[in-house]
Amino acid sequence: MSAYKIHQHDFDMVVVGAGGAGLRATFGLAQKGLKTACITKVFPTRSHTVAAQGGVAAALANMGEDDWRYHFFDTVKGSDWLGDQDAIEYMCREAIPAIVELEHYGVPFSRTEDGKIYQRPFGGMTTRYGEGPPAQRTCAAADRTGHAILHTLYQQSLAHDAQFFIEYFAIDLIMDANGECRGVLALEMETGELHLFRAHGTVLATGGYGRAYFSATSAHTCTGDGGGMALRAGLAMQDMEFVQFHPTGIYGAGCLITEGVRGEGGILRNSNGERFMERYAPSVKDLAPRDMVSRSMTLEIREGRGVGEHKDHILLDLTHLGPEVIHEKLPGIAESARIFAGVDVEKEPIPVIPTVHYNMGGIPTNYHGEVVQLRNGDPDAVVPGLYSIGEAACVSVHGANRLGSNSLLDLVVFGRAVANRAAEIIKPDTKHGKLADDATDKALSRLDKLRNAKGSTPTAVIRDRMQRTMQKDAAVFRTGETLAEGVKAMREIHASFEDVKVADRSLIWNSDLIETMELENLLDQALVTIVSAENRTESRGAHAREDFPNRDDAQWMKHTMCSVDRSGTTQIDYRPVHAYTLSDEVGYIPPKERKY
Ligand SMILES: Cc1cc2nc3c(=O)[nH]c(=O)nc-3n(C[C@H](O)[C@H](O)[C@H](O)COP(=O)(O)OP(=O)(O)OC[C@H]3O[C@@H](n4cnc5c(N)ncnc54)[C@H](O)[C@@H]3O)c2cc1C
Repeated sequence: MSAYKIHQHDFDMVVVGAGGAGLRATFGLAQKGLKTACITKVFPTRSHTVAAQGGVAAALANMGEDDWRYHFFDTVKGSDWLGDQDAIEYMCREAIPAIVELEHYGVPFSRTEDGKIYQRPFGGMTTRYGEGPPAQRTCAAADRTGHAILHTLYQQSLAHDAQFFIEYFAIDLIMDANGECRGVLALEMETGELHLFRAHGTVLATGGYGRAYFSATSAHTCTGDGGGMALRAGLAMQDMEFVQFHPTGIYGAGCLITEGVRGEGGILRNSNGERFMERYAPSVKDLAPRDMVSRSMTLEIREGRGVGEHKDHILLDLTHLGPEVIHEKLPGIAESARIFAGVDVEKEPIPVIPTVHYNMGGIPTNYHGEVVQLRNGDPDAVVPGLYSIGEAACVSVHGANRLGSNSLLDLVVFGRAVANRAAEIIKPDTKHGKLADDATDKALSRLDKLRNAKGSTPTAVIRDRMQRTMQKDAAVFRTGETLAEGVKAMREIHASFEDVKVADRSLIWNSDLIETMELENLLDQALVTIVSAENRTESRGAHAREDFPNRDDAQWMKHTMCSVDRSGTTQIDYRPVHAYTLSDEVGYIPPKERKY
């Protein structure tokens, strides 16, 4: 073990991840005078945020009536009342200055005739507390909004005094005996050397774990490494049963076709050419929230109205939009449809199917980005020194179902919040206390074990089993029976990791080893996801149980907290939903039936 050469670095703050959330936090922290490191396994502008298409929500009212309180209402309703209303209030209010700030940083938003930021309608976004017309709230840079935002945030980061460690893979958190986070251990992929980053605060901004599923819109790098590290540190993850299926992944390829297509007037049709969403959501139709559209599509397919040889998908029709709208507002998806479906969108519809897209669950935090756990009866106990933001985190602003364009928003709002919080708590250049001699032992012995793993099952085989099980048994619709089967299968697959085979013994660009560490992170989260899903005997948001078709507020208006130990034993507990707001500008919105 001592064979490893470990470089030591001392920082005030270390951010793991350079997607939208990580970059916004990194330069915010540097701006506050804190000595900040940002560690990332991919080059910053290759983070999954770059792939975001449709846009970022804020009630700017540039294109008609809007108000941040309507945005607040829509988000609470969209979350199916599982979101924390204090956090939702914070996000929707801060959205407006956050977008203005992005514009000033240089994000090249599309424009209206009179030069304001262009905004398009998105699913579940309405006016007058659901009573008025759809809101045009989603700020867009054509259909490449994530690209525009990520590049701008990286440029801002370079203008500030933060230090980047690029193509470094964070392995494990360094936790002390009191449960405080003291930093993180990372592997420099190019050399195989280890780096111990000591910090007064560690921010996990590592993105989602979409790759636990077989067909996902997310990048292959979305392996939930932050969640894996948190679970190995003994922390519980929150609301992991809520996995968002995006209605329009390209059939077969899984690539995303943005909801912005329906925002611009695109229509879903079944094999009879019928606009079936009129039946399921009479008022908002194709712009119903994602959980509802995905379920409606699945029902159409089940009832024999799917298209194609196997009648197993649906068509997204934008042929009526005309070349001008397509060239100006949707150039990226025209290209994706051509490459991945062989379709000319001006002439033919795109074959689509609900595809795994976003993890509502994650590392639980408060609206400052501080990680929280249940401790001695306190449901909001802060884990000292540990923060999380972006898709890795569960604030929880999205509750049981995220509204489209609220994720890019949460990246910048909570990226900034974490910098503000850290600046309140940490004085620049505070000395680091001594670490225990065995502080890195656990992390090193895990690395050593994986590096020398001599089992008989290759990483890719275990990964494939996990992905197919999750796809089949933790799908758009779930039942007690299939979930029980899925839990049994996932427990076996989880245990089979003991027999993993790593063939490459070197330390230089050892992608075999990296993928194995990523797989272990995915396995823990896949297990926690399906166990939490089996446990929740109601339907809410993205979690649709056929055996429990109704929402059950008396029993289930609470956050699931699930942890897993090294032997694969899971444990479930609950935190209450925050049923209060921060100010009296908005009141608590009591639960109602969720209809559109
Ligand atoms: C195709 C697609 C389109 C989308 N479109 C929209 C949209 O239009 N609007 C919207 O609001 N949302 C959209 N979303 C959702 C949104 O883009 C994501 O939720 C968000 O970008 C996640 O950002 P993040 O900063 O949390 O993580 P990511 O952008 O995924 O970045 C994760 C970072 O963590 C680093 N990292 C991870 N593990 C490690 C490790 N072990 N060591 C070191 N570094 C590590 C990576 O290198 C990377 O820099 C879309 C998502 C997808 C997949």
